[in-house]
Amino acid sequence: MRYEGDIYSPHIAGDDYILQCTIGCSHNQCTFCYMYKNKKYRIREIPEILQDIELAKEYYGDIEKVFLADGDALSMPTEDLVTILDCLYDTFPTLTYVGIYASAVSILDKSLAELEELQKHGLVEAHLGVESGDEQVLRDIRKGVSRTEMVQAGRKIKAAGINLFVTVIVGLAGKTPKAQEHAKKTAQICNEIQPDYIGMLTIIVQPGTELYEKSQQGEFEVPEKMEILEEMRLMIQDMELNHSGITSLHPSNCIYLQGLLPEDKAQLMRTLTQIIDNKDVSQLRSRDTEKV
Ligand code: SF4
Repeated sequence: MRYEGDIYSPHIAGDDYILQCTIGCSHNQCTFCYMYKNKKYRIREIPEILQDIELAKEYYGDIEKVFLADGDALSMPTEDLVTILDCLYDTFPTLTYVGIYASAVSILDKSLAELEELQKHGLVEAHLGVESGDEQVLRDIRKGVSRTEMVQAGRKIKAAGINLFVTVIVGLAGKTPKAQEHAKKTAQICNEIQPDYIGMLTIIVQPGTELYEKSQQGEFEVPEKMEILEEMRLMIQDMELNHSGITSLHPSNCIYLQGLLPEDKAQLMRTLTQIIDNKDVSQLRSRDTEKV
């Protein structure tokens, strides 16, 4: 298959065929993000993308899941995305899922009618990096949108009937008193958005990022494993969700949790509390702090 540079897709959708619609990320300024640093953002030409779909058919045969990358594939014009969706469903009769990376800016740039059109043409799920519900943290990491805009973007995806998967990053406020506030406000923003799924990640400081420079200058320190667990527990404790999946299966985490909220909240809290109270690091896995 033809790809330009490193390719990322959510771990939750690891078996997908990844179709590169954009190269890089339209924002590319988040201080912690290393994924597209070496790519200059551009939207690929439609004939090129349609040719890739033909190649995928030859290579994979029938497939069930496709993920549209790179960082912010929703930044493409809506009519182009409709063309891609139609071609995918025509080419793969067994296709049941198309997911996409979507930034808050790209979501807000589209009208609700445009997002509804994408849903009608088979866009099943959007992945939005919320990262934090703390306004100051969002500013510090140069997320490019305010907390209010993030909530609007998340709610708009849901209003269009598209499933919403958000990521939140534990440890993003560093090893500071602000960590608790970050955890509590991140729970609150999830409560306001009511996403279908929440993916918890733990901060990774990668060389080449602004956060790495800060850490080298002593301005940012990654919390210890137990502090990370305490942040996770605080987040889950304050989450009041009607029906959301939650997972920490991403390899950046030192613990794998998975469940439904509110149903599994007590169990998830018990698991975390047991490890924290016993200071039992033996149950924790090594965090994968390489590119994941
Ligand atoms: S975190 Fe997302 S929006 Fe921010 S630079 Fe990376 S890919 Fe772009």
